[in-house]
Amino acid sequence: MKSLARLHYAHLPTPIEPMPRITKALGGPDLWIKRDDQTGLALGGNKTRKLEFLVADAREKKARTLVTAGAAQSNHCRQTAAAAAKFGFDCILVLAGEPADQVSGNLFLDHILGAEIVWTRGETREHVLQNTYLDAQNEGRQPYLIPYGGSNPIGAAAYALAMRELKEQGAQPDWIVFPSSSGGTQAGMVLGARMFDLHAQILAISIDEKADDLKQRVAGLATETADFLDEPQEFQAEDILVNDEFLGGGYGVLSDLEREAISLFARYEGILLDPVYTGRAAGGMIKLIQAGYFTAGSTILFWHTGGAPALFADRYLPSLI
Ligand SMILES: *Cc1c(COP(=O)(O)O)cnc(C)c1O
Repeated sequence: MKSLARLHYAHLPTPIEPMPRITKALGGPDLWIKRDDQTGLALGGNKTRKLEFLVADAREKKARTLVTAGAAQSNHCRQTAAAAAKFGFDCILVLAGEPADQVSGNLFLDHILGAEIVWTRGETREHVLQNTYLDAQNEGRQPYLIPYGGSNPIGAAAYALAMRELKEQGAQPDWIVFPSSSGGTQAGMVLGARMFDLHAQILAISIDEKADDLKQRVAGLATETADFLDEPQEFQAEDILVNDEFLGGGYGVLSDLEREAISLFARYEGILLDPVYTGRAAGGMIKLIQAGYFTAGSTILFWHTGGAPALFADRYLPSLI
């Protein structure tokens, strides 16, 4: 495998913990959790791993300003702002929508972390992101563009290596269940499973996209990431497991599915899920367990990808309790 520039600041390996009380409440299978909500860097999450490589690349390229995009409550943007602060970059975040009157949750943290915010106001995210990048370039700010979710081969490589970490921890789950959106986490996991010989079924709960589209993108990114790491491997859409039965009302639209999962994890294990990603993925996993999808006696590792700061967003908070 090619060796990559990396900044080592994440709190790794993240713990793997049993969840005996939820296991019992659901009547099996055996449930465990990998705590990537505890990766460090301003409240953690899966982007901390990706940013170890992305920010190292930005440094190598002599950039001075990190530019990325996301939703108003983006965890990726909050973590990018924190990484920028830690390594002395400016940070510009392109956030979807209109300037918010209430600044809460991740957006509040973006401000504390000193990020500059550009709102898309009616225009497409890609368009505003490109323009913001070009403006920064013209102003001599040496920008470095981090794609949505940090999901390019550099970011995805972090999750291939997270699978090596899992192997070194001695974990051999039958299933890994987690939320997938921009697909970098999943692409890295499926590649890492092949590279480091893990046999878990890697089942993504889609957050905002039809399974066929997400499978296609994840397969493409996994193949690209393999090339990037000099470990050529081909992935096809049919190699990728995605469940899209839990899209509900769309991205960030809360329903009983998320509320019940958040409440179960909080009250049975003292673990905080988030309303957008892990709440939906855990909710989907619970429904699948109840439907008998996983064979009796199997072990499931729920991979917690972070996001709890969004619990404190005024958009979600009132509908959570
Ligand atoms: C970004 C994010 C995800 C999705 O990861 P992708 O690599 O974009 O698929 C899942 N959970 C949380 C909490 C996130 O912030």
